Amino acid sequence: MKKLLIYASILLVISIIIPTIIVKTLNFVPKESNKADKKDKIIEEPKKVEFDGKVAIYDTRTQEVVEMPLEEYIKGVVAAEMPAEFHIEALKAQAVASRTYALSRILKYPDGNPGHPEAPLCTGVHCQAYLTLEELNKVHSPDWQQKYWGKIEEAVESTKGMVMYYDDEVITAYYHSTSGGMTEDAINVFSVDLPYLKAVESLYEEGAPKFKDTVTMTIEEFIDKLNSRFPGANINKDNLTEKVKLVERTESGRVKKISIDGTIVDGREIRELFALNSTNFKIYYNPSSGVIDIETIGYGHGVGMSQWGANGMAKKGKTYEEILKHYYTGVTIKQLEYAK
Ligand SMILES: [Zn+2]
Repeated sequence: MKKLLIYASILLVISIIIPTIIVKTLNFVPKESNKADKKDKIIEEPKKVEFDGKVAIYDTRTQEVVEMPLEEYIKGVVAAEMPAEFHIEALKAQAVASRTYALSRILKYPDGNPGHPEAPLCTGVHCQAYLTLEELNKVHSPDWQQKYWGKIEEAVESTKGMVMYYDDEVITAYYHSTSGGMTEDAINVFSVDLPYLKAVESLYEEGAPKFKDTVTMTIEEFIDKLNSRFPGANINKDNLTEKVKLVERTESGRVKKISIDGTIVDGREIRELFALNSTNFKIYYNPSSGVIDIETIGYGHGVGMSQWGANGMAKKGKTYEEILKHYYTGVTIKQLEYAK
């Protein structure tokens, strides 16, 4: 309460949060030519590979490659990536999204992922988290397996072999924890324009623990971090509002570009620098206390399915197919040949 009063009386809002101030500097050059290059890349034909239903996974902990049936792998991913307490239809949506993502990596990197040449997929968040049943039992309460493993198996087995396609190609099914109300267009995060990864509303995320968050630090810490990442910017308390300015937000409200002493940087770089939950942030400075509060909305990159949004939709009675078709624009869900 005290904090609120202080804010009300002497809140100084850095111009980052004033959307009307749009700075266009000489450094800001739209990268149209780059975009064309990247477009060419993404429409290349997916490599045709023999898929026998088995996947090779690089275990980031043991640094060994393990081979297992795709469906077994998906069970370990669904359990690692989504709380088992979630609605069964949300878990089914997660199973299809995870299976689709896995297949897209297998098709794209049959000879090994650039991040780990040993295999197309890894057990870490670099690809998608995977835990064995033994590992799941270690991180959960003693009755977790008895209570939830059957539910995980049901979610995966009832959607066995189901994969999302767009124009007869397996999609890259990105997903994230919490969108904060609207998902993000892939072009703003991964610099690829994908018709099925457009910004859509995500209305039912109530209860998501990271819907809103605040990172607090002193003005000195804030300035030090900026100056160490952007040497030469020479930011100080007096010139802060002059040197740090919002350039552009995306349609979904996330920070796309910021000007740091005239240099245009991605919102993602600021997210990483201050370990923020998302790029949907606002920065508040209270000069009397010398405290900076960075408020974020949502958790994750915001592209594709919101897991908390999926759970909200499931609780409203939506099926896993309806959830997936909401978050992945224009997709069809088909069964893999091998699983028939
Ligand atoms: Zn990986």
